[in-house]
Amino acid sequence: MEKKTFVSTRNACKLCAPFGSTLVFKGIEGALPFIHGSQGCATYIRRYMISHFREPVDIASSSLGESATIFGGRKNLSAGLKNVMKQYNPKMIGIATNCLSETIGENIEQYIKEFQSNDKAYSKIPLVGVSAPSYKGTHQTGFHEAVRSVVKTLVKRKGERKKLLSILPGFVSCEDLRHLKEILEDFGLDYTLLPDYSETLDGVFWNEYRKIPEGGTPIRRIKEMGMSKAVIELGKSLLKSESAGSWLSKEFDIPYYNLPLPIGIQESDRFFKTLEKVKGFPMPEKYKKERGRLLDAYIDGHKYLFGKKAVIYGDEDFVASMASFVSEIGVIPVLCASGEDRLKETLKTLIDPKIMDQIEVLPSSDFMEIAEKAEVLKPDVFIGSSKGYFMARKMKVPLMRAGFPIHDRMGGQRMLHLGYKGTQMLFDRLVNIFIEVKQETSPVGYSYI
Ligand code: SF4
Repeated sequence: MEKKTFVSTRNACKLCAPFGSTLVFKGIEGALPFIHGSQGCATYIRRYMISHFREPVDIASSSLGESATIFGGRKNLSAGLKNVMKQYNPKMIGIATNCLSETIGENIEQYIKEFQSNDKAYSKIPLVGVSAPSYKGTHQTGFHEAVRSVVKTLVKRKGERKKLLSILPGFVSCEDLRHLKEILEDFGLDYTLLPDYSETLDGVFWNEYRKIPEGGTPIRRIKEMGMSKAVIELGKSLLKSESAGSWLSKEFDIPYYNLPLPIGIQESDRFFKTLEKVKGFPMPEKYKKERGRLLDAYIDGHKYLFGKKAVIYGDEDFVASMASFVSEIGVIPVLCASGEDRLKETLKTLIDPKIMDQIEVLPSSDFMEIAEKAEVLKPDVFIGSSKGYFMARKMKVPLMRAGFPIHDRMGGQRMLHLGYKGTQMLFDRLVNIFIEVKQETSPVGYSYI
């Protein structure tokens, strides 16, 4: 790897770990996220979530100050938990540590045990702790660690194998979650999707404020995940360590399928074939038609796309699946970048070696590095979150917003990426970006193409 010529990160291409954990807790029915650490971190996470999802977000905090930082935060945690149990009446509390509490060595597992054994009245509400220091990972690390903690804490029951599919979708949009549910229902599968923030973070209009919004994965269903017939977990980056899916598989002897995010025809095919295998019959006609329409669109739009160059940045699994998708439509992903550290390994699981040779990979990167490389590679398009806006603006190159976060447009939470339908939407947007550039830069202009 190239030696870095600077000592500090400048606008990191990642977010903080407790952010990811909080998102998981927002996707469990009746759950309240709680940050064991400084108040400012909870405020930052709330602000960041609200500007993407455009929904109210409550996150409790043990609000460690100077004395707790020196003498430990046990008392703050206990007082905070009692307080939110009274105020919110949650069905579960998800507690994530942060940089501060981890640096001073807080033992969240031990504190939870003590809290629950000290007073039986408080032991009825499940508490799920997750260690989430940002210096050990990214928001994706915090997300996946939280899913793993949830299943390890709540899934106890072995028993007769049910016709239940457990699906762990990773960090995808609310619309992606809704689409996954639609597909699973069309297949007639009895499933548990964990987490599911499709309603809690993209709900309907309320007349009165609700402290904990409706929706989320029911806790009773999570408890039954040990009796699943199969586990599907999306995200090839998860293969690097024990994940919720691999733990479930090992602990309860359940067939496990680790798949990439289904973006593009190749990866959507892989996803639908897995569902066919689990269910035991072919995909419904509706999806065959979606696939056929997508293939037809690929042919129609090929002349506008072939040979174009894209810079793709963001979370490892998102970047890998987007790179796989653009490669199959003739666009070269000249630069793939992420704040995560094993991007090359994740890309290699999806991308043909001949295409890999054409890709520059920037793992553990920040937006200054991405911009510097992009200046040299001269892409035709940037693909990623709204955090790439300034480099795209400076280079006068269009930005196709996708993934997370989208702070400068409406509807990031309703953006569909997955399956044939999500790919169709991405494909149409990408082709139209190139058509628009051509149209806008034409000396005469034209309305027919
Ligand atoms: S201090 Fe750590 S946990 Fe808090 S906002 Fe910053 S990165 Fe996140």
